[in-house]
Amino acid sequence: MQIKPERTLLSAEATLIASGTIGVIAILGLVTVLLANLWKDTTRDAERSASNLIRLIDADVRRTIELYDLALSGIIEAEKFKTIKDLSPEARHALIFSRVVATHYMGGLLRLNAAGDIIADSTSLEPRVGNFADRDYFQLHKADPDLGLLIGRPIKVRLSDQEWRIPITRRVSTADGRFDGVVMGAMRVSYFDHLFGKLDIGSQGSITLLKSDGTLLARRGLPGELDMVGRNGLDFPNFHRIINGYSKNFSGSSAYDHIRRIYSFAHVENLPLIVVVALSANEVYGGWIQAAIVVGGITFVLCLGVGAVVVLLLREFRQRRLTESALSELAVTDGLTGLCNRRHLEEVLRVECARSARNQQPLALLMIDVDHFKAFNDRHGHRIGDGVLVDLAVIIRALLKRPADVGARYGGEEFAVILPDTDLAGGLRVAEAIRARMAGRPPVGQDLRAGTVSIGVVSRILTPGYGVDDLVMDADKALYAAKGAGRNRVVPAADEADREDLISLSTE
Ligand code: GH3
Ligand code: MG
Ligand code: MG
Repeated sequence: MQIKPERTLLSAEATLIASGTIGVIAILGLVTVLLANLWKDTTRDAERSASNLIRLIDADVRRTIELYDLALSGIIEAEKFKTIKDLSPEARHALIFSRVVATHYMGGLLRLNAAGDIIADSTSLEPRVGNFADRDYFQLHKADPDLGLLIGRPIKVRLSDQEWRIPITRRVSTADGRFDGVVMGAMRVSYFDHLFGKLDIGSQGSITLLKSDGTLLARRGLPGELDMVGRNGLDFPNFHRIINGYSKNFSGSSAYDHIRRIYSFAHVENLPLIVVVALSANEVYGGWIQAAIVVGGITFVLCLGVGAVVVLLLREFRQRRLTESALSELAVTDGLTGLCNRRHLEEVLRVECARSARNQQPLALLMIDVDHFKAFNDRHGHRIGDGVLVDLAVIIRALLKRPADVGARYGGEEFAVILPDTDLAGGLRVAEAIRARMAGRPPVGQDLRAGTVSIGVVSRILTPGYGVDDLVMDADKALYAAKGAGRNRVVPAADEADREDLISLSTE
């Protein structure tokens, strides 16, 4: 009969596994949420500092361009004075360039006539000689009277040191609107180097000033950055995104040095300029990565600890379950024969009697006793006697086919067999098989029939008037009858005794 597993221990194991799993999931979930929030905060901080930088640059660039515009408009307005021609060259020069602020980056302002020749120069009373009719800005102003202030493509200045400059120009028109040349200032690109150089963008950040058409005006933060001045930023995927205004902040790898950066950008107010600040993702997220490594490591160790505790406890539970199940099996097993002991037999008998009464099915009980066993023991010793009992147990076990059949050692050299749903004929058949096999065993010394058995058999449907004790008593009576009739035989209980055909008799 199978021993029931220890339910409480099993459910404790299930609870342990479930709570261990929930614990690990909770720890992982918490850490993930924490790190995700930290990432979000880091990104927001980076975007905020980038947009602060942009605002600073925006204000400075706007003020500088306004200074140019003021100076250029000053030239145009001064020329409108009718008496200007009557002034001395020095006074005329002073009036025309009265609004020019002398700064390092401003460079010279020039007045070109309709043919592109220099007719006034802020740097000298006698204008330098030069013609700029071929320049883009000159042609553009000539073709379109409404361009206003034009910020041109960076150029290398012919008149001076081959330095990169950005032409800032306005058209001059006659009173009737005809083209009358251009006023031009050339802002040094080094102005931006100076401006950008003051700002903290980390060692791998970059700042770029673009024209709205994609022309790169100035750049800081990349090796060989000067090579890029004047190029069209549309060649680079990130600037393509910026110029087309897909998003205000995004992260992308630079096509130039393949470093991943977080890009933020904004249009300079009222000017066709875009400021782009890109901070290195490594630098921005460096702190986060360190925190993630530390927190991840601690979490891993924590989860490992929880796992180890669960595994250790499970092992302990399993061990206990095995021990308890072995103990409970021992409690119902007879040590010598391995069959059930009397205590368990009585328990099974109670259950099967109740089932028989409920299902109205007959329950058969066999009482088996070894013949003349005392004399056998005296002749051959207890150890050989024990061997006979073990043989009997092996035979009983071999003959019980149904899972519900139970064989037990009732005590001493007495055994019992419970056969549920079995009528008398079936019980007698099993009993006879046991008897025959025991009788057929090889002789022990002078004993030709060593350890034959007598068996009393009863089969009844249990009723309220006929209970467990009645069944056992009838089986015992049948056994005594078998002993009385000469041993080594099977005898059914009294009121069935007349069914001679079922009784198997063997002579001693
Ligand atoms: P009967 O044919 O009337 O049953 O005679 P018997 O000698 O078998 O009956 P009795 O009840 O007088 O003796 C039972 C004997 O069974 C006594 C004891 O020596 C022996 N016995 C009981 N338990 C054990 C056991 O565990 N091992 C051995 N070897 N013998 C046992
Ligand atoms: Mg006996
Ligand atoms: Mg006996």
